[in-house]
Amino acid sequence: MPPMKKPEPTSEDLTEEMEAFRKYLKSRGFRVTREREAIAECILRNHDHFDVDELFMSLRSKTPISKASIYRAIPLLIRCGLLAEVYLEDGHMHYERVYGRELHSHLRCVNCRRIFEFSAPELALVEKRICRQEGFKSDGYKFEIWGLCSNCQDKKKKD
Ligand SMILES: [Zn+2]
Ligand SMILES: [Zn+2]
Repeated sequence: MPPMKKPEPTSEDLTEEMEAFRKYLKSRGFRVTREREAIAECILRNHDHFDVDELFMSLRSKTPISKASIYRAIPLLIRCGLLAEVYLEDGHMHYERVYGRELHSHLRCVNCRRIFEFSAPELALVEKRICRQEGFKSDGYKFEIWGLCSNCQDKKKKD
């Protein structure tokens, strides 16, 4: 199965997402601050997989925000269902926005570090079966394949 194409952002209107974030903050007794909003907006405009360093670099050009406040905002965005942890690389967690996106899994090339997305509905069946067997209530699952992409395999052959 060819990796799924990255969906183009349908619209850069983030009203719905930002409203969900504000609602979440208020419901948990957190203040809605300009800084939290700026971080959330930057994250939601990012349709790629990124780590905190990358996010920090792209935010820095627009607003003076510390890495620490990004680290504090991320769990909030995860808990309100806008963001997800995707994979760990060299000790850095990578994230992606999940709000309004189809559930998908990842192929990760350990050589060129590209990430490919794919969807495999059969994984949800496996999840269901295992949870039934173990009497487990799932909050989600992660499936990741790492190795060499076709490009990198070709290069290795030529070397
Ligand atoms: Zn590769
Ligand atoms: Zn993804």
